[in-house]
Amino acid sequence: MDAFDQRILQGAAADSDALVRAAFEAAPDGLVVLARDGSILAFNARFLALWQFPPDMLQRLDSAEMRRHTATQMLDGAGYLRSLEQVHQVRQPQFLEPSALRDGRYFERYVSPLPAIEGVPLAQGGVIVRWRDVTQRVLAEQRQRELTALLELALTSADLAYWEVDVQSGQVHSHNDRWHAILGYAPGELADNFDAWDPLVHPEDAVTRLQAWHDHLEGRTPRYEAEFRMRHKAGHWVWLHARGFAVRRASDGQALRLVGTRQDITAAKQAQQGLHALAHTDELTGVHNRRRFMQLAEDELERSRRYGLPVAVLMMDLDHFKAINDRWGHACGDEVLRSFARSARTVMRQSDVFGRIGGEEFAALLPHTTLAGARIIGERLLEQVRAQPASWESTTVTYTASVGVSVAGAGSTVQALINAADAALYQAKALGRDRLVVADGAQALA
Ligand code: GH3
Ligand code: MG
Ligand code: MG
Repeated sequence: MDAFDQRILQGAAADSDALVRAAFEAAPDGLVVLARDGSILAFNARFLALWQFPPDMLQRLDSAEMRRHTATQMLDGAGYLRSLEQVHQVRQPQFLEPSALRDGRYFERYVSPLPAIEGVPLAQGGVIVRWRDVTQRVLAEQRQRELTALLELALTSADLAYWEVDVQSGQVHSHNDRWHAILGYAPGELADNFDAWDPLVHPEDAVTRLQAWHDHLEGRTPRYEAEFRMRHKAGHWVWLHARGFAVRRASDGQALRLVGTRQDITAAKQAQQGLHALAHTDELTGVHNRRRFMQLAEDELERSRRYGLPVAVLMMDLDHFKAINDRWGHACGDEVLRSFARSARTVMRQSDVFGRIGGEEFAALLPHTTLAGARIIGERLLEQVRAQPASWESTTVTYTASVGVSVAGAGSTVQALINAADAALYQAKALGRDRLVVADGAQALA
């Protein structure tokens, strides 16, 4: 008794033929045993079910007719019949490519040579063909390929970098071209490991980015999401928006891999900063608007107080501006305002806070400046305005301005400084304009 017989008969004295037949029938595949000449030696019920042979054909059991029946169901019947001619040359068990059927099913063939059987001469050179319906698998693979292509398309269209990294080693398993291109690197130029890429993260952003990862890995957030800067190969910073999630082991939730995307949001960030600047800027002259002037003046006054440094405020108003508008038009008036802003900037220092706080009213907060210093700057401004008239459509528009000056005492607020300078400005107007007046009591403070 050989090993096979032992396996069959272990613990059972049953008829081995009956056992083998039962096993043959119970196979999930369609089995058919073919003789060398192509005639059918045996088949199971599953084989019949797969091919749906009509009952009369089964009565005749004509192998040529049955072969034609299967071939007509194949999408490539001729190719199938050709492959049958070679099937008897199979020496090793082997899988053949899945065949497509006209009805949309896919059958896979596994062919193995039939061993010599004593007393069955037809078995010599025969084969066992195992047919398996793999429609589900083939369709799933097809769907998988579609989804992969769709994903690739979506990532490319959205200009997203894709990455997949091992939690333990930091090894980047897969990524698309955007992954390195986003930072100006060629494929393979930096190792596919986070150890090589992490040092490129801006030091100010490293902690928030890491925190976002920890929050996600420890289950506090449904996904990882962070905005951070990384250094481009050319040296500048690139703003990135990264999203990702952990792929966890089903049994214990242990995070194995991280997958995610990175997007270059530098342009959006710059636009945002542009809007920010816009909200702070006077559109006509490009200098600080009233709100921004007040903010910066508060900050500067606070800082100067902390260091015990003197601070002065200038209030400026153009003289008879209404008359300029009336004579030359509003657009000319606008140009005079721009011209005044330019003149003011030439006499102010970098640290001075200068803004347009009303129609033709400007204000300046001068840190580190005594009353004497403020007077000099104010007078210099009036000279500059006299010397540099505005140009409007080949016309030279001369104009003047008046200035009021105040200086900070203990506990002065920006508003109090403005009010005092404004009162001095009013006096300058009353005294005939085109002049500078110092606020009452400023001399005592200086
Ligand atoms: P004063 O010497 O007393 O300051 O006389 P003024 O004419 O300059 O003063 P007033 O306040 O009577 O007139 C200011 C004018 O400034 C009135 C307003 O139409 C004009 N104005 C305000 N904002 C703008 C602006 O953005 N562009 C132009 N072109 N004119 C403006
Ligand atoms: Mg005026
Ligand atoms: Mg005015």
